[in-house]
Amino acid sequence: MNKQEIIQADQDYFMNVFGPRFPIVLEKGEGVYLYDKEGNKYLDFTAGIAVNALGYNYPEFSEALKEQVSKLIHASNLYYYEIQAKLSKLLISNSYADKIFYSNSGAEANEGAIKLAKKYFKEKGEERYEIITAKNSFHGRTLKTLAATGQEKYHKPYTPIPQGFKYVPYNDLAAIKEAIDDKTAAIMLELIQGEGGVNPATQEYIEGVRELCDQEGILLIFDEIQTGIGRTGSLFAYEEYGIEPDILTLAKALGNGVPIGAFLAKDGVAQAFKPGDHGSTFGGNPLACQAAYTTLSIILNQGVLDNAKEVGSYFYNRLLELKEKYDFIKELRGMGLILGLELDMEAKEIVKKMLDNGILVLTAGKKVLRFLPPLVINIEDVDQVIGVLEEVFSQIN
Ligand SMILES: *Cc1c(COP(=O)(O)O)cnc(C)c1O
Repeated sequence: MNKQEIIQADQDYFMNVFGPRFPIVLEKGEGVYLYDKEGNKYLDFTAGIAVNALGYNYPEFSEALKEQVSKLIHASNLYYYEIQAKLSKLLISNSYADKIFYSNSGAEANEGAIKLAKKYFKEKGEERYEIITAKNSFHGRTLKTLAATGQEKYHKPYTPIPQGFKYVPYNDLAAIKEAIDDKTAAIMLELIQGEGGVNPATQEYIEGVRELCDQEGILLIFDEIQTGIGRTGSLFAYEEYGIEPDILTLAKALGNGVPIGAFLAKDGVAQAFKPGDHGSTFGGNPLACQAAYTTLSIILNQGVLDNAKEVGSYFYNRLLELKEKYDFIKELRGMGLILGLELDMEAKEIVKKMLDNGILVLTAGKKVLRFLPPLVINIEDVDQVIGVLEEVFSQIN
């Protein structure tokens, strides 16, 4: 099929939930570059929306997957797998948690986390089942996780949406205190709101929320689906704050592109789940576990976290220079390699112009230009993006 035929087939056969996409047909990736069918090259600062931490065709990763594909892809959770055991051990030994469960996506990880929080109080014989989440949050697209998402535009097409959530302004401790009542089971938060506009939580907020949860005996859930697995320069963003949750959810970068999610908890919470309480057909299958195990091993052993921190801080400073130069840049936010520029115009217009110049970047909400590059980018990649941003911005003023 040629490009026109492919775009036409999408219109003919695919449910129209994405609207018109950016008009390129991607065919392969190598390093931090994507290539379209016509051989055009794009420097990728989206990483498949915070997924491809190692970029494309990372040799050790590709080899491990090829080998796993020819050995075993899937055979159900009725049996044991060495690669699943190795992944669990590696993730647990590098986190605050004692136990893990694997899902296939972020939304499913959050669903599981919500179920675990509810079951925890059921086991204790307490009537607590409500979850407090933040306005402007994003927690997924299943009915329960879209209800958890504190943005009305996601609720509107599906009212009445599932009950059991209360929404509070982000970074507002008093609002959470006010919202807690005798039905509250948990507070679920992103440490940096990703889809909501790259809004980092303040240190005082996260400390205060942890303290409140401890006082009230309720659970704290960190949704690190976007911030986890090295994005901030630490393996988990909670390490940046020095505050541990009761339940942690992961997905996006965990499998470097192979779908896998997870939720983790300490023993005292995890023991609420009994045989039959939860499950998954695909979750944690050998292929997905091999992808996650190899990704994690590379991130932990090959300097990827330090790279994300160092290149991230260089990128931040270069963006700061742009912010000081252009009035239409309102704010620069983020840490590590999750960075956002809030503009006083539609960010999508900038994204289109960047694409025309061979650079892929993202929006977050209407006015935020969001950067989520692979964690293996270098200074020269940043310089290239800054150069093109300069060019695009200079044509606006
Ligand atoms: C992407 C995302 C999700 C949803 O993950 P899916 O894999 O798309 O279901 C949930 N929470 C956060 C913070 C995310 O960034």
